[in-house]
Amino acid sequence: MNNNTEEKVKPFRLVKYFTFISLIVMFAGTVVISSLNTHSARNMLLKKSKDYAHVLVENLNHQIFMQFFIPVALKFGKIQLRDEEQFSHMDRVVKNTLHSFRVETVNIYDMNNVISYSFEKSVVGKQNMGGSDYQNAVKGRSTSKLIQSGNFWEISFGFPKQSLLITFDPLRAEKSLAQMTGPILGVVEIVQDLSDDYKSIFNLQIRVLETCAIVMGILFIFLIFVVKRGEDILERRSLERLKLKEELNRAQRLAALGEMVAGVSHEIRNPLGIIRSSAEHLKKKMLILDPSNTIPHIIVEEATRLNNIITDFLNFAKPKEPELIQCRIEEILDKNISFFSTQIDGKHYEIERNYDGSIPEIMGDVNMLYQAFLNILLNAKEAMPGGGKIRVSANYLSQENKVKVVFEDEGHGLPDEIADKLWDPFFTTKEMGTGLGLGIVKNIIDAHGGSISIENKSSRGAQAVIYFPVKNK
Ligand code: ADP
Ligand code: MG
Repeated sequence: MNNNTEEKVKPFRLVKYFTFISLIVMFAGTVVISSLNTHSARNMLLKKSKDYAHVLVENLNHQIFMQFFIPVALKFGKIQLRDEEQFSHMDRVVKNTLHSFRVETVNIYDMNNVISYSFEKSVVGKQNMGGSDYQNAVKGRSTSKLIQSGNFWEISFGFPKQSLLITFDPLRAEKSLAQMTGPILGVVEIVQDLSDDYKSIFNLQIRVLETCAIVMGILFIFLIFVVKRGEDILERRSLERLKLKEELNRAQRLAALGEMVAGVSHEIRNPLGIIRSSAEHLKKKMLILDPSNTIPHIIVEEATRLNNIITDFLNFAKPKEPELIQCRIEEILDKNISFFSTQIDGKHYEIERNYDGSIPEIMGDVNMLYQAFLNILLNAKEAMPGGGKIRVSANYLSQENKVKVVFEDEGHGLPDEIADKLWDPFFTTKEMGTGLGLGIVKNIIDAHGGSISIENKSSRGAQAVIYFPVKNK
């Protein structure tokens, strides 16, 4: 690829980078949004759990007051949890109240910061375990705090090993059944395990990210595919443009060359005509003076050959506009063949014709088509210096609505390496050739909207195949 093309492809590379960067930005955006979402989900969870904890304690407070304090006070006259019976009574009340709720631990402190009741029997009787939360509760202030455990990464990415919510609430005597504003009798600490809730939030976040990654991945692959295709198209276009430009240059060069050749040829033609007619005159005179002298005859022959070459030049360099009329291709071919027969008379050539019965007329310039067919027939003859058979066939392809004309010979055929030079002007493999014959043929067939190809036959020789469109009136 040269610089030029690469430059044209560049803007598309930018699109590629843009695609890539936008995907990264989109993904980063998703990560941020999902983190914000999880953050608010966690806050919500925490707030709900705190509220829930206070409601739970309120309910526990009520049950303890109604089912423990009042009956025990009536029965024993004094609350003393060191007493086995009182302790197990309390245990029953607490467990009955909380049995269906997810509560890890319950500690009840007395007013001296001593644990008087707990799920965990070993801590009963311990002093000063409540800390500042206990002190707050004694003063009537409820507190709730979240304790998370895990290593640095687990904590910072939001999947701690354990999340515990610890709530301290005052335990109050109830004045009436409806309200709980009585004097503080102790402090309740309840511990709830929120680890599972936190884990499910984390899992949800992971799932959101996974889904996003998959969607982005698919999008990315799709975009890459689209960009790749666009790039290919762009590259092909710029190559095509380059090729067209080259072709144009070549056409311009050829046109200039043609102009020159046409000018020169035209100038040569007139003196050549005079030379030929003078030589013919001389030839007649020589017949009387010196019949064995062949020089005037040679001059006439060579002048004729030169005239033919110049005619070829002119035909090629200044192609006429075809005058299209309705014509029968078989009639033109017949005229070609009858002229050609006189040329090959007495030599080892044979010509065979084969026409389909129902060939429609085509729009053609009779003289130009005659010229084209003649050039092809001459090539066929020249490819078989020792003689041979030329087969001319014409038929109608009704499906494509085309007339097909084929010229076959039994000559040496085309070497592979000349296949793409065949149509170039001045390309010839013959010592005396001009290389203009097929150039003229191509111009004429193109001017008729037809197409031509020349290739080797599977058996010996080459064949020229021509298609002419049939224009329906
Ligand atoms: P010229 O006949 O002056 O060489 P053309 O343009 O008519 O120029 O043909 C170009 C070349 O194509 C010929 O020199 C020849 O090599 C090749 N060619 C054309 N027709 C045939 C054919 N029927 N068999 C083999 N070679 C052919
Ligand atoms: Mg030729």
